[in-house]
Amino acid sequence: MDTVTRPRILVVGAGFAGVGCVRRLERQLAASEAEITLVTPFAYQLYLPLLPQVASGVLTPQSIAVSLRRSKKYRTRIIPGGAIGVDLKAKVCVIRTITDEIVNEPYDYIVLAPGSVTRTFDIPGLTEHAFGMKTLAEAAYVRDHVISQLDLADASHDPAERASRLQFVVVGGGYAGTETAACLQLLTHNAVKRYPRIDPALIKWHLIDIAPKLMPELGDKLGSSAQDVLRRRGIDISLGVSIAKAGPEEVTFTDGRVIPTRTLIWTAGVVASPLIATLGAQTLRGRLAVTSHLDLPGQDGVFALGDAAAVPDEAKAANGEEAAVCPPTAQHAMRQGKVVADNVVAKLRGRPTRPYVHKDLGLVVDLGGTDAVSKPLGIELRGLPAQAVARGYHWSALRTGVAKARVLTNWTLNAVAGDDFVRTGFQARRPAKLKDFEYTDSYLTPEQVRAHVEGSGPGSG
Ligand SMILES: Cc1cc2nc3c(=O)[nH]c(=O)nc-3n(C[C@H](O)[C@H](O)[C@H](O)COP(=O)(O)OP(=O)(O)OC[C@H]3O[C@@H](n4cnc5c(N)ncnc54)[C@H](O)[C@@H]3O)c2cc1C
Repeated sequence: MDTVTRPRILVVGAGFAGVGCVRRLERQLAASEAEITLVTPFAYQLYLPLLPQVASGVLTPQSIAVSLRRSKKYRTRIIPGGAIGVDLKAKVCVIRTITDEIVNEPYDYIVLAPGSVTRTFDIPGLTEHAFGMKTLAEAAYVRDHVISQLDLADASHDPAERASRLQFVVVGGGYAGTETAACLQLLTHNAVKRYPRIDPALIKWHLIDIAPKLMPELGDKLGSSAQDVLRRRGIDISLGVSIAKAGPEEVTFTDGRVIPTRTLIWTAGVVASPLIATLGAQTLRGRLAVTSHLDLPGQDGVFALGDAAAVPDEAKAANGEEAAVCPPTAQHAMRQGKVVADNVVAKLRGRPTRPYVHKDLGLVVDLGGTDAVSKPLGIELRGLPAQAVARGYHWSALRTGVAKARVLTNWTLNAVAGDDFVRTGFQARRPAKLKDFEYTDSYLTPEQVRAHVEGSGPGSG
C-alpha cells in the first residue's frame, strides 16, 4: 500500500475530544483511506472530572489515566510530544517531542483538541505559590502536600507554624474548586484521627470566589444545598472575594484578611490552550471561533473542538435562548469528538458535513463521602441519590472496561477500608506550582511558526 498518497489526518490532543475523534475515525475509515496521527504528550486520556478523588485518595492516579493503546481497532500513529505551533498556510504542525526535538508534521486535515490551561490573573505571587488541579501530577502532588502539612504540623512545637500548616485555601467556586475543597476537607477530617497531637479544630478550609454564588449553573436551591453541606462540614465560604497577593506562608484576600497558610489551590476557571493563539486566527475569549460544523471558516480541512474551541450552542439557539457557545465541559468535548470525526470522513468522501447539536444533560457534583448534588436532565438531587447518579455517570463515561474495573474496585476498597493517608514523597523538593506543570511558555508566536516552517522542510527538525 502506498502510504504517501493517503490523506493525512492529524489530531492534536488526547483528551475527551481528541480521543473521541480518533476512535471514531478508526472505526469509520479503512486503513487505505487515510493515515491517522495523534500528537499527545502523555500515553493516556485523563478523566479530569475524577481528579479531586485522586487528590483526596479515593482513587489511585492510574485509575483515571485511561490507556490510549487498548482499543481493538487501535492503529493510529502516536507522536509523543506537544504541538507548539500550527502554520495554516503551509498545513504544517510544529511539534516538540518529549525528548525536546522540534519536528514538522504536515497534514491534509487537522483536528485541534488541545483543551485548556488554568486561567490565571496578574496577582502578585499567584503562579509561584499556587497549586493547580488540572493535571494528574498536580492532583497527586496536592495530595502529598496536604498530608505533609499534617505530618509537619504534628511534628512542630511552634503554634504559629502549626496554625499556618493547618489552614488551606481553595480559590474558585465552580464545580472543580468546590469538589476539590469538599473532597480534600474530608481527607483532612478523616486523616486527623491518626494524628493525636493535632487539635482538629485548628484545621480550617477556605473556599473563596469573586462571584456572588457557588456553581450558579446548579440554580439557587441546589446551589444553596451545596453551600449548606460545605458550611456544616466547617468549610469557610467567602463569596465576592478573591486573592490580592500570595506568598509562601500567607495569602491576602481582597477583603483585607491575611490567612496564614502554606496551601493555596487555584481553580478559578480555564482558558484555551496557548496553541490556539499560534494560528493567528479569530478567537472568542481565547477559544478558536469555529462554525457549528466545528470547522474554521475560510480554511480547508481545519477543525477544532472541546475546551479549545468556541462552538456555537445550537441546542440553546433552537430553544430561542440567547446565542451562546458550548461551555467547556467533558460532556460537550466527547460528543463533539464524534461529530468532528464524521465531518472529516464526510469531507474525505465528498459528502456534506453536519452541525453539532447537543442539549446539556446537567451537572453532577461530588462533595465527598455520601454528599453530592446533581441535576440530571433538570431533576434536582441531593445526598446519596445524587452521589449514585454522579458516580454512575462518571463510571459509564470511562472509555475502557479496565478503567471501569479499576475505578469500581478503588471505590469499593475505599468505602470498605478507608484511606491510609500515605505520603509518597515522589515529588518532594521539586517545583510543583502552577507555572511548573502547564508548560504555557513552550509555544511559538505565529511569526516564529512561519519562520520555522519556511526555514525547514516538512518532517524535519
Ligand atoms: C477538576 C475538574 C473537574 C471537572 N469536572 C467536570 C465534570 O464533572 N463534568 C464535565 O463535563 N466536565 C468537567 N470538567 C471539565 C472537563 O474535564 C473538560 O471540559 C474536558 O476535559 C475538555 O475536553 P478536551 O478534550 O477539550 O480537553 P482535555 O480533556 O483537557 O484534553 C486535552 C488534551 O490535549 C493535550 N494537550 C494539551 N496541549 C497540547 C499540545 N500543545 N499538543 C498536544 N496535546 C496537547 C492534553 O495533555 C490533554 O490530553 C472538569 C475539569 C476539571 C479540571
